[in-house]
Amino acid sequence: MKILIIEDEKALAESLADYLQHEGYRCEMALDYQKALEKIQLYDYEAIILDLTLPDGNGLELLRSLRQAHNPAGVLIVSARNALADKLSGLDLGADDYMTKPFHLAELNARLKSIIRRKNYESNNQIVFQEISINPATMEVSVNGNPMVLTRKEYELLLYFIHNKNRLLTKEAIAEHLWGDNMDMADSYDFIYTHIKNLRKKIVELGGQNYLKTMYGMGYKFSE
Ligand code: CA
Repeated sequence: MKILIIEDEKALAESLADYLQHEGYRCEMALDYQKALEKIQLYDYEAIILDLTLPDGNGLELLRSLRQAHNPAGVLIVSARNALADKLSGLDLGADDYMTKPFHLAELNARLKSIIRRKNYESNNQIVFQEISINPATMEVSVNGNPMVLTRKEYELLLYFIHNKNRLLTKEAIAEHLWGDNMDMADSYDFIYTHIKNLRKKIVELGGQNYLKTMYGMGYKFSE
């Protein structure tokens, strides 16, 4: 089981790695934001220990990009700041747990174990909507049992629709979900249109029903 330790206090990072290696984990360290970002984009980790205050960035931003990429790694925030606001935004952004420094290594280990146990349990759970089935751990999608090949954005879009089934989703909300603030709104509407058209086509080609309804002038709705 591979763990990434994102922590700029080198001595602390090393003692964490030491301790967790004795507990049977494989540990990698990232001592700054840039290195951490590289690693989470390139490699898969079972869990990530995340310090919020890094010399060249904010750990919450790393968490945000992890979750936007639907990275399933469990995240345990460790922060020197005992700030309720940080804690709330961390949990809101999809962290699994939060600890304030200083902490006992044994407690960190116990929390880490519980995160991993929970993740493994969840990742065995398929998301099913009628004849569409999604395995969030492997990102495999099937329609009527036949595998459906999706681009990353189509996959994110499908997941977003299924999580919000029967709700009207505006183009603004979809653009925000898929690209955050990184995209010019006017351009992104054309992309959304294309992604939705392709997604609909792929579902229908595998014998699925057309659940993706266009609500003219308002947005889209995924409903039975
Ligand atoms: Ca720090």
